[in-house]
Amino acid sequence: MAEFVNPTQPIPPRLAEEMNLIRKMERCSRSDLHRLMNCRKNTIGQDVNTLIQMGLMRETELQSLPRGRPSVHLEIDTDTRHVLGVAIMPGMVSCGRYNLLGQPLEMPTNLTVDDPSQILKATRRLIKQMHDNQTILTGLSIPGMLDRDHCKVLSSSTWPDGKSVSLKSLNQLTDSRLIFDNTTNALGTRWLLEHANTPLHDHLLIFLSDGILGATLLINGHPIDGCIICSNELGHTRLPLDTPRCYCGQTGCLERIFSTAYLKQLGENNKLSKAIADAPTSPKIRQITDYLTMGLANAVNFCRPSHVTIMTDLPDMDDYIDVLVEQIRDQLLREFANRIQMHKWTEPNAQPAASGAALALAQIYWCRPG
Ligand SMILES: [Zn+2]
Repeated sequence: MAEFVNPTQPIPPRLAEEMNLIRKMERCSRSDLHRLMNCRKNTIGQDVNTLIQMGLMRETELQSLPRGRPSVHLEIDTDTRHVLGVAIMPGMVSCGRYNLLGQPLEMPTNLTVDDPSQILKATRRLIKQMHDNQTILTGLSIPGMLDRDHCKVLSSSTWPDGKSVSLKSLNQLTDSRLIFDNTTNALGTRWLLEHANTPLHDHLLIFLSDGILGATLLINGHPIDGCIICSNELGHTRLPLDTPRCYCGQTGCLERIFSTAYLKQLGENNKLSKAIADAPTSPKIRQITDYLTMGLANAVNFCRPSHVTIMTDLPDMDDYIDVLVEQIRDQLLREFANRIQMHKWTEPNAQPAASGAALALAQIYWCRPG
């Protein structure tokens, strides 16, 4: 079977573009590729042979046409190769194999690990069990700030002692084919793979949970590089409020405001998601929502993206997110308020390992920098 030279870049950009065209169309012929790629027929023929030999693409049964010769179609090979998706979270690691269309080959394995010092050991064990010579790439999502050059985690809620954690042992286990990124960036990548055929030009994705608020700004499907790998730290936008202290050391952080802890401080003894579901227009929830809207509208005004997606894993939030989206829109600068397309995605965390797998798949279809 043909293999690739650069461990984290499975195929060159032209072949990735061809793969993505086939993914979008589900099936197409060599002639379709020749027309859409604007390449010589010989070039397309060679590319297709390479992709078939790599186990990434396959020919389908002959398609009978009303006239003329039968035609052989091409499609993504969902049987031969796979990617491994891994998600490390506070107290838990999840790992599963996914085919090249991002569908799970089996239910991912979730391990609860109470002791943070044992998380890497548990992750190594899972990767060892599932990684084989058909694994193209392994994608790993981790919350926090990461250093790609030195292959380590600088800080993460998974390791609350604040010490950096090396990922080199995981990289070795995957034959240096480990793609890792921040959890919110991985979620954003998965949204694109599942909801858009082609990366949107600019897209702000905001992840909301109880006491957690992350964001990622994607340009052509790639999170902006910045000075460090992490999500856009929208959750630490601060307002002059006396909230419970944030782990960043400050008070008034947006992710502290949108939390059960702050709701309790306001005098309501209920979980935030339950309080929202029970009485979304109660004075205390309205107060929290108004502050949240202010922070999010400021971020959208600052970026003026074409698309904004609000993601949440909190239950029963569909109606609330609809209201929040309209409230944010009301506070945007009027010149672009009606041009920004806003989407919602509830329950994005149902399968955390799928977000790790999305990081690997994005390498195959969009050639993200490794
Ligand atoms: Zn903070």
